[in-house]
Order: sequence, then structure tokens, then C-alpha cells
Amino acid sequence: MADKRDYYEVLGVDKNADDATIKKAYRRLAKKYHPDANPDNEEAAAKFKEASEAYAVLSDAEKRKQYDQFGHAAFEGGAGGAGGFDFSGFDFGDIFGGSGFGDIFGDLFGGGSRRRGPSNGPRRGADVRYGITITFEEAVFGCKKDVTINYKETCKTCGGNGAKPGTSPQTCPKCNGAGQYTTRRQTMMGIMQSTQVCPDCGGTGKIVKEKCPDCHGLGYKQTRKKVTIEIPAGIDDMQRIRKTGEGEPGTNGGPRGDLLVDIRVTPSRDFERDGMNLYSTTSISFAQAALGGDIRVKTIDGDVKFNIKPGTQTGTRIRLKGKGVCNVHNQSTRGDQYSTLVVKVPTKLTAEQKDLIKKLDQVSGDTLNEFNEKKSEPDKKRKKKFF
Ligand SMILES: [Zn+2]
Ligand SMILES: [Zn+2]
Repeated sequence: MADKRDYYEVLGVDKNADDATIKKAYRRLAKKYHPDANPDNEEAAAKFKEASEAYAVLSDAEKRKQYDQFGHAAFEGGAGGAGGFDFSGFDFGDIFGGSGFGDIFGDLFGGGSRRRGPSNGPRRGADVRYGITITFEEAVFGCKKDVTINYKETCKTCGGNGAKPGTSPQTCPKCNGAGQYTTRRQTMMGIMQSTQVCPDCGGTGKIVKEKCPDCHGLGYKQTRKKVTIEIPAGIDDMQRIRKTGEGEPGTNGGPRGDLLVDIRVTPSRDFERDGMNLYSTTSISFAQAALGGDIRVKTIDGDVKFNIKPGTQTGTRIRLKGKGVCNVHNQSTRGDQYSTLVVKVPTKLTAEQKDLIKKLDQVSGDTLNEFNEKKSEPDKKRKKKFF
């Protein structure tokens, strides 16, 4: 933790900044670096984590006081362990209106802040993320992928409540079953209120007195599970597939979370993709360009014939209607393919070929940009003056 940045510096606020300023600064950073807005961006995730940690400390009068006095050393060796930071009991919910935000913290920090809100009722399990890399062709045509995920299987012996068969979990006496409690403290800046997850029951509101012998009170067994992911045709890089109910188990009878599969697509050698459209280049010979006719164009469906008109210039872009990628949501609609024609100039010529080209040039009288002694004279004179 030696090279940790100063929390005030992280949030970009003054040492004397008030709570509103700190909150505003954090909200801005959190929006910018939120993992949902920056999928697969480790740098953004780190920034997000750093800002969240700074906010967790500076928004808490007690922690801020400790930090001002001792710096980062104030929190070293705590529950967070080496390099970690204990967010348990910190409620980020009010910053983001408490919707759809909590799980991010579960993913990033491993627990704690995920337990928000009235937590003694049925709670949905957390979503689990998984990344798959597929080829360009697999993305275009769709595919099935078998993946093996870590899966918390609900314990059959106790039905998931963690209690020994014949017994049942008791209401937690510390929080009276609420799973959390709110403390108010008088500080120099007024009354500070903070909500703590009950440490005795871990937020469930229930205490298991006699643990299930099969799962040791966890309510689930850690297993590996094979899941088939159906990847629809037309999926693009950075898109996500949701497998409902394959995430972590819920608590207190809540439903399971989902498995979120982040898709990465390796680029193609032949095509560039922009949404549903594809872009490619097709080489044609000088003769083809000059004379026109049928050329062969590579598409994702294989080679197709395309007729070009005589005198086609290099850089001409042709459109192959319906040869793009299909819409991931409606596979009967397809984009187009645009191919840029490049006239290849021969590099190795036989004497006979050279002769023919010279003849062609003479016959056509095409003197475009030909060097001509007379025309170049003014330039020459100017040069002479110069020396
Ligand atoms: Zn059990
Ligand atoms: Zn409790």
C-alpha cells in the first residue's frame, strides 16, 4: 500500500472540502469509470475502485478524521487485508438511487456492500460474470459454447438455509432479524448516520445455531457446472449474453442471480465490421479495371460474382446488398458489404509485357503527368537563380 494515492487527490477535492463537494466529486468519477460503462476495461475498474475507496473514507466523519491524522496507515491491517479495503457496512446506495448498482461492488470488492436495503427478506443472488472469446465467423453465424463455471449449488440436505435438518435458523438477536442497523453519531459536522450490515448474521437476519453437516451452514456447495451458451448470429464484440438463473443462489428464498457472458470477438483478416455492415478490399488487375467485366469478391457467404464497368478507377467502392451481418435480434435482416477496389500495378514484367504496355501507352497517347523538358523549363530557371 506504499504507493497509494492520497484520497483527496483521487477525488480531486480540497482537504477542507465539505461532504456535498466530496459526494459530487465521487458521483462524477463513479459515473465515468463505472464498470458497466467500461466493460473489460481494467484501468477504469481500478479507477472506479480507487475513487470508491476514497469516498468510503472521506464521506465518513470518523474514518476521515483517522485518515487525516494517520493517512493510509489508519486502515492497514484491517479486515480488508493486504491491498484490500473493508467496505462492509458502507452504503453506496444513496449515491446512485440504490438501483442496479450494488452488485458491482460485490464483483469488485468481494462482498460487504452487496448487502444493502432491507436485507432480511428474500434476496436475489448476485450475477456472475464470465468472458468468452469467439472468432469473427462464429459471431457472424452464431455458435454454441460449452463453458464450465463455478457454481454454488443449493444444498439438498438443508434446502439452502444452512441449518441442520430438524432445526431452523433463529432470528438474529443483535439486529432483531433486520440484517442491518443504523447508527447516529454527533460529530463536529452534525449528526452522521450510517447503516451497518449486522456482523453477527452477515445481513441475513438469521443465525444458524446447529449447522447443516453437509454444507457446514453455508446453504450451498461449491461445484463446477457445464453450461451451454447459445451465441446468436450477428453478435458483436463487447456484447453480453444473459443466462437467467445461473448466477449465485439467492438468500432467504430469493431467486438465483444470472450468468452474464461478455463476448469478445477476434478480428477478421478479410472484413472490418461496423454494426451490421462489412468492409473489405478487393484487388483487380489493370486489364479488369480498364475493360470491365465480372470480378470475384470475397463475402462471408463465399465468393460472389460482381460486374464492374469499363474504366473502373482504383478506390471505387462497390456495394453488395445483403452480404453484411444479420441483426442479432432479427436474423432475417442483414447489413451490406462494401468493398473497395484496388487496381494492382504489376511489379514484375517480362520484356514482352513491357513492350505491350509501352505500345498501349503510345497508342492511347495518354501523357498524363509525363515529364516534358519544355514544360519544366521555368522551374529549372528558378533553380539556377537560387545558386
Ligand atoms: Zn446444507
Ligand atoms: Zn443480525
